[in-house]
Amino acid sequence: MQNPESIWFGETKVTPEEKTEKVIDVFDNVARRYDLMNDLMSGGIHRIWKDRFVRMIRPHAFRAGRPLHYLDVAGGTGDIAFRIRRKTGPGAVITLCDLNENMLSVGRNRATDHGWLQDFNWVTGNAESLPLPDSSVDVYTIAFGLRNVTHIDTALVEAFRVLRPGGRFFCLEFSRVQPEGLNRLYRLYSDTVIPRLGQQVANDEESYRYLVESIRRFPSQTKLLSRLQNAGFKMAEYLNFSAGIAAVHKGVRP
Ligand code: SAM
Repeated sequence: MQNPESIWFGETKVTPEEKTEKVIDVFDNVARRYDLMNDLMSGGIHRIWKDRFVRMIRPHAFRAGRPLHYLDVAGGTGDIAFRIRRKTGPGAVITLCDLNENMLSVGRNRATDHGWLQDFNWVTGNAESLPLPDSSVDVYTIAFGLRNVTHIDTALVEAFRVLRPGGRFFCLEFSRVQPEGLNRLYRLYSDTVIPRLGQQVANDEESYRYLVESIRRFPSQTKLLSRLQNAGFKMAEYLNFSAGIAAVHKGVRP
């Protein structure tokens, strides 16, 4: 009998189905406190990274009189989609897709507060099998989502499929810190402060331990770049934020 495929969930090996279920559980657990925890864990720096990420996209609502379609995958509570909406103003088509209903529900409440609920398509879906037609998207974004996806390469091929020729791919994700001295400090912080914050603020140390472990398991900047190229993206390149704590990978569908 063939061995079933096994996948890392943090530091534990599980089946692909178990990984997807466990990722849904993690974000079910953290959804309510997700935005607050991001601010506390990063000292607000995630906002600067996300602002910079969206500025790199240079969003606008129309090209040649046609509304542009932005797809934010693993969009969670809306941080990236809302920033895109702020830049484009009304008129662009913005789809926010996430595996987790609770994260989307927090996002919908936030959009309602902005008076923007109707400005987004809210889609429950998996990055590995997007419920969207081929060549229907102008800009694909995924922020702090790809490391949670069970099969990264499948998600990259799926991103390529839904993008139109000339469409652009942008990924913001935790990455590898350089130099080594700084990396040691970062590891110390991640191993001690983040799980404790998770326990104290969200009463959930385990989910935040998964966060730290999933960052370590995620491919380095250069490995992810090769995987983007293998999926067919051209002009693929990356840019480090904060010494590589996070990195943006981008590419174009030819
Ligand atoms: N992009 C948001 C941000 O930057 O704040 C949310 C990031 S949050 C760390 C990761 C999100 O990825 C969660 O909302 C989770 O439900 C979603 N996710 C995990 N695996 C996914 C998958 N296979 N397909 C779609 N979304 C997924």
